Amino acid sequence: MMRTAIYPGSFDPLTNGHLDVIQRAAKLFDRVVVAVAKNEGKHPLFALKERVALVKKSVAHLPNVEADSFDSLLVEYVVRQKAQAIVRGLRAVSDFEFEFQLALMNRKLNENIETIFMMPKDTYTFLSSRIVKEIARLGGDVSAFVPVPVQSALIRKLKP
Ligand code: ADP
Repeated sequence: MMRTAIYPGSFDPLTNGHLDVIQRAAKLFDRVVVAVAKNEGKHPLFALKERVALVKKSVAHLPNVEADSFDSLLVEYVVRQKAQAIVRGLRAVSDFEFEFQLALMNRKLNENIETIFMMPKDTYTFLSSRIVKEIARLGGDVSAFVPVPVQSALIRKLKP
């Protein structure tokens, strides 16, 4: 049986912390789908298509990882993809409460889907898309925090 995991998120934009989680998941599953949520309510900096394209470019070296988008209930998307698990990243205790609530709600909605939490390398625990955007907006160097295609896109997008 082919084991598939879905890694959902806003990925606005993808960071090296996300990539670290993706690489770990890619070792455990036959197929990993990075599923970019539309999330218009969050007023993303990058449009859905841009976020998916940046994920695609950044995971090109990982043969069992794909990029996709979704705008439905996550558990429905997981079933449609014939996946068994949802992967989420945990950086610190501050992530826990929300992630715990989300995981238990998704289990209520479909008890056959497991949520798996992965911890990134310790150097990425302080990283978030929000902080990367903030640094880039103020002209700071984000090359240590994001893949090269994301760095170029941030510079293009935030050029005054
Ligand atoms: P969301 O809006 O769904 O939280 P994000 O793109 O911010 O989407 O994050 C997607 C997932 O990746 C979440 O589980 C989040 O906790 C996790 N994540 C975000 N940044 C990191 C990081 N630096 N290291 C590990 N996991 C992370």
